[in-house]
Amino acid sequence: MKVLLGGGTGFIGRYLSKALIDRGHSVVVISRTPRLKAVTWQQLESQQSLPDCDAVVNLSGENILNFMRRWNDKYKQDVYESRIGKNKLLVNLICQATKKPKVWVSAHAVGYYPVTDEKEFDEEYVLKTPKTYIESLCKEWENSAVLPDTESTRHVGIRIGVVLGPDGGIIQQSYWPFYFGLGGVIGSGKQYFHWVHIKDIANLFVHAIENELVSGILNGVAPDPCTNETFTRVFGAVLNRPTWFSVPEFAMKFAAGTERSDIILKGNKVIPKRTLESGFEFQYPDIKNAMKDILKK
Ligand code: NDP
Repeated sequence: MKVLLGGGTGFIGRYLSKALIDRGHSVVVISRTPRLKAVTWQQLESQQSLPDCDAVVNLSGENILNFMRRWNDKYKQDVYESRIGKNKLLVNLICQATKKPKVWVSAHAVGYYPVTDEKEFDEEYVLKTPKTYIESLCKEWENSAVLPDTESTRHVGIRIGVVLGPDGGIIQQSYWPFYFGLGGVIGSGKQYFHWVHIKDIANLFVHAIENELVSGILNGVAPDPCTNETFTRVFGAVLNRPTWFSVPEFAMKFAAGTERSDIILKGNKVIPKRTLESGFEFQYPDIKNAMKDILKK
């Protein structure tokens, strides 16, 4: 298949591109920057047409946990435009296309689910009234990817958890503090931590692209969620380092701001029910083996 991949230069996108090419597909990335085997968002917007493709995937998104940027209106606008704006453009181009892609796969986040200790969530849950910034963002992000009923293109939306891999995301950010024995729990440590191995999330996108029977929302989280405390202890144990330190709630709120700190300080239990029912098999279902694979030399 010819796959058009928005945000293909990012952490998940690099693994997904490789997984697709290894399986004989071809990939054209959509990027903000002109590059080899890529089109720019600007080109798509000015041409108002999709390049010839069988699948469209969107992974674009300004990093919401970039602590180097001040959390202000401009940052929020970039977070919004890079997800919702880009989805709207792609949905519009799919609707206008004379040769429709077979499948459209959009990335989303488990931030869609409300934070509570009282309930376990799977893909059937429908968020009616968002109560936080993150819930509102996630709901609008999903709405922006919906195709009209009249469209023949199959749609899959993947609600991604925290992606663990050696060369990106949270592991890359926290490797050295943990390596020097400075790692520790964040806040109470009791909050659920929805993780997924980078190879599993890339393979789940491939599964969604290739499998004609898959549609609708899938949770991109491992079937064995753990608490932040368990993750911290496993991280330290695999590196053979102590994890005595902790990051208090107020420090996290100071660094990330109250709106974003919920992502790290609060949690809930999310299960990949439809993902498993769709026949997807996780290569790394448990945190210990996932971390051993990620941190191996
Ligand atoms: P990355 O941070 O690696 O970024 C993905 C790509 O988005 C970048 O390569 C970049 O492509 C593009 N991008 C960044 N900022 C902007 C912007 N302001 N406007 C337009 N495009 C932009 O993301 P990941 O690969 O980690 O994640 C992919 C998607 O999955 C994102 O939407 C993310 O929110 C979501 N997700 C990721 C999770 C994770 O743990 N990694 C967890 C939950 C959801 P270029 O520079 O080529 O334009």
